[in-house]
Amino acid sequence: MKSPFSVSSRLVSIITTVRASMDDDPQKLDQTKKRVVVCGGGVIGVCTAYFLSKKGAAVTLIEQSSIACAASGKAGGFLALDWCDGSPISSLARASFNLHRSLAEELNGGESYGYRPLNTLSLSVAESENPPPPQSRKSTIPPWIDGPAKSPKTIGTTETTAQVHPQLFTRTLIEKAVTDYGVEVVIGKVKSLETGEGKVRVVIEGGGRIDGDAVVLALGPWTSKFTLLSSVIRIHGVKAHSIVLEPKEANAITPDALFLTYFPANGGQPMDPEIYPRPTGEVYVCGMSSEEEIPDDPEEIQPNMDSIGVLKRVAEMVSSHLGGEARVKAEQACFLPSTDDGVPVIGEVPGMKGCFVATGHSCWGILNGPATGAAVAELVLDGCSTVVDLSRFSPGRFVSGRGRRR
Ligand SMILES: Cc1cc2nc3c(=O)[nH]c(=O)nc-3n(C[C@H](O)[C@H](O)[C@H](O)COP(=O)(O)OP(=O)(O)OC[C@H]3O[C@@H](n4cnc5c(N)ncnc54)[C@H](O)[C@@H]3O)c2cc1C
Repeated sequence: MKSPFSVSSRLVSIITTVRASMDDDPQKLDQTKKRVVVCGGGVIGVCTAYFLSKKGAAVTLIEQSSIACAASGKAGGFLALDWCDGSPISSLARASFNLHRSLAEELNGGESYGYRPLNTLSLSVAESENPPPPQSRKSTIPPWIDGPAKSPKTIGTTETTAQVHPQLFTRTLIEKAVTDYGVEVVIGKVKSLETGEGKVRVVIEGGGRIDGDAVVLALGPWTSKFTLLSSVIRIHGVKAHSIVLEPKEANAITPDALFLTYFPANGGQPMDPEIYPRPTGEVYVCGMSSEEEIPDDPEEIQPNMDSIGVLKRVAEMVSSHLGGEARVKAEQACFLPSTDDGVPVIGEVPGMKGCFVATGHSCWGILNGPATGAAVAELVLDGCSTVVDLSRFSPGRFVSGRGRRR
């Protein structure tokens, strides 16, 4: 039987590999549709392409490597309704949590990309302590957590927290956008951009070009490498690590996401790793971040093996199911796209009519992808967003010097 979680081979066949020239055949174009070029095939670019095309735009998405090859394929995929309340992204997060739910309903229950509501616990784990004896174990700690865990606290319920497999989500959504709404996906590296007289031209490395009425730049942490934007918007990449484990007894693992305060035995700084069991039977563990220069090519991002070692140690301390007998399916790193003020940047770039940007979602890009995509689609096609008030996210705040600090 075909696993509902296998990455569709159809996706591969619907992607156009780099073309020598992107000159459009004017005969083929539907002149009544607004033509939008979306640059970047992470969750933000894909959600934007999906909602733009669903609203009737003719969309071409350009990705330099493969869909969800970077953070959008290596993230945890944890979603929370109200954890951003009181912060500038509160309304974005709430709208997006609900959009994830309705997208899952639209996309066969989200089964193909592991959408599910789940409970979430915070726990304290001290490496130097012994696991509590069975009779004094707290009943709120799921049985598979048999390490020295204490102070359990429910911080999310199936009403307020959920998860997706981020790579499968992003790939499912682009496949739907291609097959149902005619999005064209081009594999190629965006080199430069020209705007003027209400038109945009995207130039691709190797000589191709794509013309449109508007362009959306969703380049994640590579935004700053794009010379045109680097003087207006500064995005820095924060490197973070993760491992994916396949425990032997996957059935023993219950759908409880864990947020840990972890005290290493050497008395070092406490850490805050996260553990997400997935409906695939895999368990995802992440943490260990650092500031590092991002390589040009996402395929060249290598994990730091000391950080991977720490995550493995955390996993086996929390549960014997995640120790030596578990198969290590992935050891990886990727970069969070972060702004100086911690707030995403979503809107039209000052002085560049028809050029929009959507990035800087830091550790909440998978959660906030759908509402960002839906809001940008409205902004580009209707001139304003009803999904979320985007004024707080305006790229103009960097130009005027406002909001550089929270
Ligand atoms: C360890 C870790 C765990 C995380 N866990 C969660 C979580 O549980 N929940 C959550 O909500 N968020 C999570 N995040 C955050 C989330 O992964 C990011 O916010 C999100 O993936 C950013 O998406 P993006 O599309 O902006 O960027 P990316 O995923 O980086 O995509 C950008 C894309 O642009 C392409 N690109 C760049 N330059 C060019 C160019 N010149 N031409 C063409 N293409 C180009 C890249 O190849 C890439 O595919 C996590 C992040 C990390 C690192």
